[in-house]
Amino acid sequence: MSSYDLHCHSRVSDGTLSPSELVRRAHAQGVGVLALTDHDDLRGWAEAKRAADACGIELVPGVEISATWGRSTVHIVGLRLDPAHAAIVEGLARNRAGRTERARRIADELARHGIGGAFEGAYALAENKELIGRTHFARFLVEQGRVKDVRTVFRKYLVKGKPGYVHHEWAELSEAVDWIRQAGGQAVLAHPGRYNFGREKLRLLFAEFRAAGGEAVEVVSGSQTPDQVPVFADLALEFGLAASVGSDFHAPGEGGRELGRLQPLPERCRPVWAAW
Ligand code: AMP
Ligand code: MN
Ligand code: MN
Ligand code: MN
Repeated sequence: MSSYDLHCHSRVSDGTLSPSELVRRAHAQGVGVLALTDHDDLRGWAEAKRAADACGIELVPGVEISATWGRSTVHIVGLRLDPAHAAIVEGLARNRAGRTERARRIADELARHGIGGAFEGAYALAENKELIGRTHFARFLVEQGRVKDVRTVFRKYLVKGKPGYVHHEWAELSEAVDWIRQAGGQAVLAHPGRYNFGREKLRLLFAEFRAAGGEAVEVVSGSQTPDQVPVFADLALEFGLAASVGSDFHAPGEGGRELGRLQPLPERCRPVWAAW
């Protein structure tokens, strides 16, 4: 039985390793099946696939789509999709198009709180200039010596109610699921434990995600805590969703995460890879 890690990021989005470095690191960590799931971009696939074939790890084409659900942002992972399919390629280009303007608004908000030069700082740290994200702002704030680490930034800045937060309209949840399905992939609700939703809102999200064509939910995630595993295992079962696992690795030494370092999936879960 291979070990699975179905969620991680390269420099094509907000990771710090190139796609091939990421694949080689996963292989060295004992991962047997890896999905590359950069935010809103599939352009790491070709390089990652060459590296995967060279070292003998199984690579799954994937993506993590930023989506709007009501007034909230949620993330939808797509797995085993065709990375050249027009529906998703064009949809993701639209999602990316709003990011630079959003980054300017984030920088304006930070400037209002006395932090200047944030746009230029984040821009310089983003390898993919179409994909400036909050992680790049977070690393800039750490680099400036304002905050000790990225995790702390996301408690004090860039989130609802804190300096540097701005609302943004991404693709609708149902659109994101549609793009994935049209490209032949499976839609997975990413890290439901990170949205700070109460029980009833979570149940509504699971129901709407399922109704939109979603197939699985991340039960084990580097972006969730160990005590959330049984909670989401039960909810997955209740809503007839399969279960996925992913480290959400971004950078060596950042956030205490490592590729492939994941708790086992509870026995009662149906793994998203059961029919692969
Ligand atoms: P964006 O797509 O620009 O909104 O950025 C979202 C990214 O910010 C996520 O993929 C994570 O990499 C990072 N992030 C968001 N919330 C947190 C958090 N609480 N702790 C650490 N990283 C976070
Ligand atoms: Mn990220
Ligand atoms: Mn995410
Ligand atoms: Mn992620």
